[in-house]
Amino acid sequence: MGQFEGKVALVTGAARGIGQAAALKLAREGADLAVCDLDKDWLAETAGIISDSGRRVETYSVNVSDSKSVQEGIADIERDFARIDVLVNNAGITNDNLLVRMTEDEWDRVIDVNLKGTFLITKAVSRIMMKQRSGAIVNIASIIGLIGNAGQCNYSASKAGVIAFTKSCAKELAARNIRANAVAPGFIKTKMTDDLPEEVQKKMLDGIPLKRFGTPEDVAEVVAFLAGDAAGYVSGQVLTVCGGMVT
Ligand code: NAP
Repeated sequence: MGQFEGKVALVTGAARGIGQAAALKLAREGADLAVCDLDKDWLAETAGIISDSGRRVETYSVNVSDSKSVQEGIADIERDFARIDVLVNNAGITNDNLLVRMTEDEWDRVIDVNLKGTFLITKAVSRIMMKQRSGAIVNIASIIGLIGNAGQCNYSASKAGVIAFTKSCAKELAARNIRANAVAPGFIKTKMTDDLPEEVQKKMLDGIPLKRFGTPEDVAEVVAFLAGDAAGYVSGQVLTVCGGMVT
């Protein structure tokens, strides 16, 4: 019997990449899944694999940066499943530029999805978890939120914000038996990183002690650990998954 048998997990940005891998991992370990992305049609692949594995899965169109969309999406999920045991705030974007060239719009877009989106979803879901008096929240941050990166001042600020937000949530929600932790991936092979020029990817590989890029599954393993009872006394922490880049 899987560790998430009888539990309901919600994963945002679950159409592909790390979000898809996290949703599949939680389902393999027994969870029923509410999966969200900007357009629910993009979730067909994720949902197909989960339902083939015998778990219940429902798909939702939710823009995490839009409070109305979040409120409606979470209300639909509460109606369909009646509970949420695990929340994985994964939806995220980059919009890189050097500081001096960065437009206000590029700044706002990244902060709105990565940081405000995490706030909006967590606020709506924590109300449900508080009623249950249990829950586990896993926020996908980034090592860039810990160490910074040239060309990513918007992204690094958003992910540092996610880490600080996670720590505050952990303190605020602990009394209701809700844990909150963050995962900080390094360079993971997904569409987000495939778009980088080959020479940039090569330079990055040189800086990874384990000498390989991470996979979405590498991150999903750690998400499942933090979401599960094995991490029952772990809250307010940031776990890096970066092949030893940040120690
Ligand atoms: P990805 O392949 O681009 O997947 C992200 C998913 O989130 C996409 O399906 C995307 O939809 C969706 N999304 C974007 N904006 C959204 C919004 N406003 N509301 C709902 N869904 C939205 O990215 P990934 O590499 O798997 O990254 C997942 C998370 O890991 C992100 O938070 C990212 O910052 C973090 N991370 C990634 C890496 C890495 O190396 N890949 C490293 C550190 C941290 P669209 O198709 O519209 O974009």
